[in-house]
Amino acid sequence: MKIKEIRHRSIALEGQVSNAVISFAGHDVSLVAVVSDVIRNGKPVVGFGFNSIGRFAQAGILEQRVLPRLLSAPNGTLLDGAGFDCEKVYGAAMRNEKPGGHGDRASAVAATELAFWDLNAKLADEPAYMTIARHFGRVPVLRVPVYAAGGYYYAEDGLGRLQDELRGYADLGFTAFKIKIGGAPLAQDMRRIEAALAICKTGARLAVDANGRFDFDSALACGRAIEPLGLRWFEEIGDPLDFELNKRMSEIYQGAVATGENLFSTQDVRNLLCYAGMRRNQDIFQMDAGLSYGLTEFGRIIALMEAYGFDRRFAYPHGGHLINLHIVCGMGLGGCEAYPSVFQPFGGYSPDCRIDDGFISPGDLPGFGLEAKPGLKPYIDEMAGGTAP
Ligand code: MG
Repeated sequence: MKIKEIRHRSIALEGQVSNAVISFAGHDVSLVAVVSDVIRNGKPVVGFGFNSIGRFAQAGILEQRVLPRLLSAPNGTLLDGAGFDCEKVYGAAMRNEKPGGHGDRASAVAATELAFWDLNAKLADEPAYMTIARHFGRVPVLRVPVYAAGGYYYAEDGLGRLQDELRGYADLGFTAFKIKIGGAPLAQDMRRIEAALAICKTGARLAVDANGRFDFDSALACGRAIEPLGLRWFEEIGDPLDFELNKRMSEIYQGAVATGENLFSTQDVRNLLCYAGMRRNQDIFQMDAGLSYGLTEFGRIIALMEAYGFDRRFAYPHGGHLINLHIVCGMGLGGCEAYPSVFQPFGGYSPDCRIDDGFISPGDLPGFGLEAKPGLKPYIDEMAGGTAP
């Protein structure tokens, strides 16, 4: 078996939403297609991956570094049995890269490495969660908790719009929610939180996400204001690498904190585990394979968490999309995020996934099932067919 070609395309995210720090209006995502020489039903078997949501497409790093290294790997050196060895794929993609730094290359490698997982599952003719569970020696979990992430800041905003949005998520079967904070003065954010709580009924069903916006003083003011509400968690309070701030807050704030979506490597997570005051069986970890070199590195991250005595059920990967749903099911993690109304065509799930009473079940198409997502299907068809974008 050989790789015939690796294609990629940058696809713009739809929507004009903002969090406390950035607007997503100019964001895009790299969709990568690994075309094998295996022919089924008259067509090549093609694996697809993308680099999660919330950063940028990585055309330059893919074209100039990652893809040439994979395509020049000697015949057979990336194979493992009837599929590809994703650890070897990761190693080949990183040839001549210095340790540390991470940044955008972690996304470029992730989009590519995840496409190999999709390809492996398709070659085995099974959903990706089965391939993932077998690789990591686990029994797949086919119904996992899911929460609706939304509550962004809109140009035309208002408490009524926020409540309508959350009511819409409840109608879709969600029972837990997350909204953005930190993008408005504290008094205004508190009105947003109170409005959301009127829909959620209890703080245990509502998380808030500051997207790294706060310094210590503003974090403390917000923490004191929200602590009596008993919220589900307080996410990315300060800069993702400010472990000292996270530690100081975890010593003061009684509720759960959540972080990790902007850490891209095992080494960064080790620092989080050692120095950020994360509390076992309370605080939430949100590392995302699509931003951190793919599933090989993500598997090392989860193993490291466990080596430090943290339970994988407190891992809720950032990025509400099909790839992370399969990873959560295959690795037995705590649950999934979902973006029911934003970040199309990558965000949210496909119609063959069932959401009810706060849980989600994946569909049974081979691979990550990206082909079942109506907004993604035209891109996938085009890239699988090899026609010009
Ligand atoms: Mg977040």
